[in-house]
Amino acid sequence: MEISTLREEARDLLDETVALRRTLHQWPELGNDLPATRENVLSALDGLPLDITLHETTSGIAAVLDGGKPGPTVLLRGDMDALPMPEDTGLEFQSKVDGAMHACGHDAHTAMLVGAAKLLSARQADLPGRVLFMFQPGEEGYGGAEFMLNEGLLDLGARADGSESPITGAYALHITANLPSGWIASKGGAAMASADRVIITVTGRGGHASQPHAALDPIPIACEIVQALQMMVTRTIDVFDPTVVTVGRITAGTTNNVIPETAEIEGTIRAVSERTRAKVRDGIRRVAEGVAAAHDAQVDIAFRDGYPVTVNNPGSAQFSMDVAREVLGAKSVVEMPNPTMGAEDFSYVLNRIPGSMMFLGGTPHDRDLSKAAPNHSNRVYFDENAMVDGMAVYSAMALRHLTKS
Ligand SMILES: [Zn+2]
Ligand SMILES: [Zn+2]
Repeated sequence: MEISTLREEARDLLDETVALRRTLHQWPELGNDLPATRENVLSALDGLPLDITLHETTSGIAAVLDGGKPGPTVLLRGDMDALPMPEDTGLEFQSKVDGAMHACGHDAHTAMLVGAAKLLSARQADLPGRVLFMFQPGEEGYGGAEFMLNEGLLDLGARADGSESPITGAYALHITANLPSGWIASKGGAAMASADRVIITVTGRGGHASQPHAALDPIPIACEIVQALQMMVTRTIDVFDPTVVTVGRITAGTTNNVIPETAEIEGTIRAVSERTRAKVRDGIRRVAEGVAAAHDAQVDIAFRDGYPVTVNNPGSAQFSMDVAREVLGAKSVVEMPNPTMGAEDFSYVLNRIPGSMMFLGGTPHDRDLSKAAPNHSNRVYFDENAMVDGMAVYSAMALRHLTKS
């Protein structure tokens, strides 16, 4: 099937894609309940030959395009949620919602996926199989993808004519300020990290700051645990199967002359293999309990499971980069040397269906990449022209996936 014209076709959709992206950008919503976003997506999809399922546990939308020829089903994902933070870009379409901003580019993902639905709908008659468009909420820590899976996202069943059409591939794009506009990057194997949270509470005995011997000060113990965790990471974890443990918060005390009873440490744990993910947890428990015991203090350690490692099927990742080269030219496609330590709940989909997570560059070519405000910054800026490339790549992935299988 012809894909060389997809970029031109996508360019014709740029104005309406920008308009949708800016509407979403002005009215960002958080978490799994995105009523206005859902309405905007539905009206943008209106008139397309899609079989739409509105999810009930979240604002997720599953839209199926059934082609005119037999074949399998391919899944394309776009996430729709924003972040709880103020926006300081000064753009004319800056967020109108206090304390909410599309700082991770999910507005662009949603708009591009709508564009891909239009491009692919125009080829419905020739399409050998189905495309499942997954519009998911709650990527930013709310597990939106898992909710959609639990609600039966992948249970599509047979086609109207009774023929089987299993889901055989899943692809997602994520825009990033770390790459020039329109570039694509991916890799086989672990592409993004797991992200778990740990909260360690050290309990001593409160007292007068002038008489530490009569109290049990939890603050130096907490500090020693923070230091010991870094040593545990560098001395027990294989550098070629890396992990990051960052303590992002220490909370203790109220004033200078009081020894508090407790100190609390909160951190994030990133890993790119399930083996190391488990090993680091064991290490944190051992170190925190050991340090606390050495000083006769009590410690309570709570882990909160976050997203698992995002693992690209090696064949699917190579395939996705080959398709991107075909659409955008070889110079615009790079194979990532390393995973990123960010996390993604598309990992839940990739644990069920072989596929690939790709990054799409969003920083304008005339800006210095090293100085560009990153994703999640209150000043992040994405070149909207990159959405042409994103729409073309999304569509090409679906077309090539269906015709190869
Ligand atoms: Zn994000
Ligand atoms: Zn994101």
